[in-house]
Amino acid sequence: MTVLALEIGSSRFAASRIADDVGTDDVVQIPVPASGAWERCQEMLLEAAGGAEVTALGIASAGPIDMAAGVVAPVEVPEWRTGFAIVDAARKLFPSASVHLALDGVCLALAERNFGAMTEVVDAMAIIASHRISGGIIVGGFTVVGRTGNAGHVGHVLVPGFDDRCICGGRGCMEAVASGASAVRWAQEQGWAGNSVAELVEAARVGEGIPAAALGRAGTALGRAIASVAALLDMDLVVLGGPLVEAGPVLWKPLNEAVATHARLSFLPGLRVVPSQLGDVALLAGAGLLALSAQSA
Ligand SMILES: [Zn+2]
Repeated sequence: MTVLALEIGSSRFAASRIADDVGTDDVVQIPVPASGAWERCQEMLLEAAGGAEVTALGIASAGPIDMAAGVVAPVEVPEWRTGFAIVDAARKLFPSASVHLALDGVCLALAERNFGAMTEVVDAMAIIASHRISGGIIVGGFTVVGRTGNAGHVGHVLVPGFDDRCICGGRGCMEAVASGASAVRWAQEQGWAGNSVAELVEAARVGEGIPAAALGRAGTALGRAIASVAALLDMDLVVLGGPLVEAGPVLWKPLNEAVATHARLSFLPGLRVVPSQLGDVALLAGAGLLALSAQSA
């Protein structure tokens, strides 16, 4: 049995073979390609397979997706914006494999629920703060995927106090303030000379200047949105993954202050926001779980 996982993230593409214990072996990764996205995926998957016959493939994709149709349309991949039938394409590549698709945030939630920070709770949410924002919801111990697979796509929750223009066409969404791409754009508008999310996070870690201010805004927006979502879903834990998590106190202090200020209902005082325990293999592990659970069903 050879199980593979594919990550179509907002900041990278990655693939790996999945061990029986859901370990991720020999991760292959590239930045999100500007063109030839499926060709690059095929190269990574064939490298991860190492010539073995693939029996199952799990795909974690940035949204939006259409889970029933097996189609992805991630914002960061222009050639796929009108929809790419990734499940059909993967079945052509590996005719013997069962192929399973879920939102990247759902895969983070699955992985953290099984092996990471969510193992002790049954009502929780995972949020990815990467180039874009995504998320996945666990209610009563079950993963919520929604009608089309996009439940948990939390980036477009409105955040009071912000009016930034969002890629969805609206204003004041969490995505418009707290995603890596939005934080970089805001910092550049203030005169910061850098270009990437990784540069911004690194520059912010010293705790001063425009990069720190950009991630401070992101932290506040995340905290306000988390307080709203926690009240809606009656949950006591939010796990935060993605590169912004590495920014340290410049992000986490305003985030926790916003949670403390806004999560005031009687059932919310225990609400905690913690970093992902699985780090940068979390999405592959979640996609691997999708595939493995289908194999054992
Ligand atoms: Zn929006």
